[in-house]
Amino acid sequence: MSFDKGLQDLGNGCFVWLQPDGGWGWSNCGLVVGDGASLMVDTLMDLALTREMLDGIAHVTTAAPLTAVVNTHSDCDHCFGNELVAADGVEIIASQAAAELMTQHAVDELTAMSGLGGRVGEYTEAMFAPFRIDDITVTPPTRTFSDRLSLHVGGRAVELIEVGPAHTAGDVLIHVPDADVLYAGDILFIDCTPIIWAGPPRRWVQACDLILDMPVTTIVPGHGPVTDKTGVAGVRDYLAFVLTEATKRFDDGLTVSEAIDSIDLGEYSAMPGSGRIAQNVVAVYRALDPTALPLTPIEVFTRIAEIDAGGGVR
Ligand SMILES: [Zn+2]
Repeated sequence: MSFDKGLQDLGNGCFVWLQPDGGWGWSNCGLVVGDGASLMVDTLMDLALTREMLDGIAHVTTAAPLTAVVNTHSDCDHCFGNELVAADGVEIIASQAAAELMTQHAVDELTAMSGLGGRVGEYTEAMFAPFRIDDITVTPPTRTFSDRLSLHVGGRAVELIEVGPAHTAGDVLIHVPDADVLYAGDILFIDCTPIIWAGPPRRWVQACDLILDMPVTTIVPGHGPVTDKTGVAGVRDYLAFVLTEATKRFDDGLTVSEAIDSIDLGEYSAMPGSGRIAQNVVAVYRALDPTALPLTPIEVFTRIAEIDAGGGVR
């Protein structure tokens, strides 16, 4: 399938709003249309992008208005547009673990990151430059759940499955059984490097295995083009690679910085966002020793910036 910006019809009343190139902040939204009602999967990074998406799907949602929005997780690029969908009769749903992170404090922390100096400051500034986040009013879920939740949207069954903590604390998959479609949120990054904010990484591998065992054919990632189980296997392979390489170095007594420096990314070095290996190694170390605080977030972003600029991991 193509990876053009805008609405793509997946058939059977399932849609995706795609945002190339799938890098930092460029996430996808989903739409499941039932009889006279629709469910949206995620909102976007800022109000302008979310407004553009809502206009772009209006020809569908006029006949089948939104009655539910599911945030797949708490990251900014999946919920900062919530204030534009909040309305009477619209439930905003997320896992309890995700809801706990959807706070104004989280917005303020991100806004503060743009004021850093040096190479890391330049990197984060470029990362946030396409977006406006200083005017976001956090709009938390009106309904939360843990483990699983079955919904009915205009007569269609939609199943929510909590698989976090993995990418973040509260990741959720959205399964549409009558269409064999799965919206995976950031459990899947296609054609770009996954980043393990929360972990443990092993749980993310398990989430991939769960998807591989599900009766689904069309799979929508949080970032990148629509995929199938081949894409899921690719993400699983990357995570398994990181786990193996970082664990080996942990066992050999290497510091987290030495581990990051010494991992040969091989084929993954050409994947956009390869610098995220820095955070991914940190996540493995943290899972192996929960008492360790291997690197601060600013140190991690400094390493990501260095590697993405070609100066770090080979
Ligand atoms: Zn994302």
